[in-house]
Amino acid sequence: MLGAMRFLVACLCFALVPATRATEPDWPAAKQEALEILVDLVRLDTSQPEGNEIRAARYLKEHLDAEGIRAEIFESEPGRASLVARVKGNGTKRPLLLLGHLDVVAVERDEWSFDPFSGEIKDGILYARGASDDKGVVAGSFQVLLELHRNRTPLDRDVIFLGVADEEAGGVLGITYLLDKHREAIDAEFAINEAGKGVFERNLQYTRFEIQTAEKTPRRINLKASGTSGHGSIPLKDNPVGVLARAVGRLFDHEMPPRLNETTREYFKRLAETSEPERAAVFAAILSENPTEEDYERLRDLSPVYHSMVRTSIVPTILQGGYLKNVIPSEARATVDIRALPDEDPERLFSLLKQIMNESAVDLVPHPQTRPSHEPSGLDSEAFQAFEAVFERLYPGTPVLPTMSTGATDSAQLRDAGILTYGFGPARPEWDLSSGIHGKDEYLYVTPFQDYVEILWNVVLEIAGSK
Ligand SMILES: [Zn+2]
Repeated sequence: MLGAMRFLVACLCFALVPATRATEPDWPAAKQEALEILVDLVRLDTSQPEGNEIRAARYLKEHLDAEGIRAEIFESEPGRASLVARVKGNGTKRPLLLLGHLDVVAVERDEWSFDPFSGEIKDGILYARGASDDKGVVAGSFQVLLELHRNRTPLDRDVIFLGVADEEAGGVLGITYLLDKHREAIDAEFAINEAGKGVFERNLQYTRFEIQTAEKTPRRINLKASGTSGHGSIPLKDNPVGVLARAVGRLFDHEMPPRLNETTREYFKRLAETSEPERAAVFAAILSENPTEEDYERLRDLSPVYHSMVRTSIVPTILQGGYLKNVIPSEARATVDIRALPDEDPERLFSLLKQIMNESAVDLVPHPQTRPSHEPSGLDSEAFQAFEAVFERLYPGTPVLPTMSTGATDSAQLRDAGILTYGFGPARPEWDLSSGIHGKDEYLYVTPFQDYVEILWNVVLEIAGSK
C-alpha cells in the first residue's frame, strides 16, 4: 500500500514538471566521456602545417556512426578534413552551429616537460598540445551533440557540430572553404566558437565569464627598402638599413586613434561596474565624453591588452638587413604585425601607413588576408542573452563580459558571412590566462572543462530547445 502511495506521489510530482522540459544528461557519465574524448583527440597529432585533421575527423565520425548520428567529412585537400554532424530540430527556427578547430599549432618538443601528444593528466590538469586550443571546445561541443541525440531533446533549431580544419593558418582550408563550397551544410543563424571563457581563482571559483563577440583582424605587412650598395666608409643617403629603420621607427611611434565599438564599450562599462574604485575610475574615464590621452595611458598601465582593445595596433616583429660590417646592402626588410579593429578597411589602413612612414624607397606588401573585416556580433541577440541567462542561473552574481579578442579566429569569416557568432570555451586560471596556448606545456584544468560542457549544454538548450 505504502509502495503504491509512493508510486502515486511520484507520478503526481512528475506530472508537475513541465512536459517540454528536456531530460538532463547523466552528468557524471557525460563529463567523464567528454574528458575521454578530449584525451583521445589530443593524442592524435593534427599539427600545422600538415594538419592531418582527417585523423580527428575519422575518430569523431566513428563515434557518430555508432550513435546513429549522420555525419559527413569534407576534405578541402587530401587530409585537410572538416567534420559536420547534425541533430535535427523541428525547423521553426534556423540552426545553431557549434564549432571548434581540429588542427593545432606545431610543438617544439624539447621545450616541453610532458609528451605533448600523450594526454597526460596530473593533479587535475591535462597537459597537451590542443588541450586549451582548441580540442577542449571540440570535445565539449561534441559531447553536447551526443547528449542532444541520446536524450531526444526537443529542439526548435537543428544543432550542427563542426570540427573544422586549418584554423591556425587562417581557415582557408577549413571555414573559408566550407562557407564557399558547402554553405548549406553549416548554415546557421547563430554559432558558438572558441575564444570566450570563464576565469577562475585558485579555489576554482569563477570570477567572471567572457563571451567573445568581436575580434581584431590580422593585417600584416612586409616592408622592403631598396637603395645603392656601397662601402661603409662613404655615407649614402639611400642606405636601406637607415631608411627602413626610420620608417619602422615612425610606425612604432605612431598610435592609431582609440575607437570603441558596441562590444568594447559594454566590456569597459561592466568592468567599471564590477572593479574596485581605482580601476573603475580608469574605465569610467575612457567611457566619458572626452577622454584624454592621459586616460588612455592609465588604461595601458592597467594592461597592454586593454590598450590593444581600443585601437588598431602596429607592432614591428622582424627587421633584417646587411651582411658585413663595412658594406651598405642594397636592401633591407621588415615585417610588421598589424591587428586592425574589426571594421577597419585594409586599403585605407595601408595607404595611411605609407603616409606615416613617408619613405618613397620603402615598398609595402600586405600579407595574404585570410580574415575578413566584419561587424561584431550584437549583444541584443537571443544567443548573447541566452549566455547571460544561463550564467545568472548557474553562477548567480558572477560578472559576464562581452569581449573583443586581440587575436583572430574563424569567427571573423562566420560573422562576415552573416552568422552571429559568440566565443565561449573552457575556463582558464586568472593567474595564467594564456595557459601555454601556442607555447610549451599547454594545459587545461579538468573540472572547469567539465563545467564548460554543462554550461554549453544549458546555453544550447536556451537557444535551440523547444520552449
Ligand atoms: Zn584556436
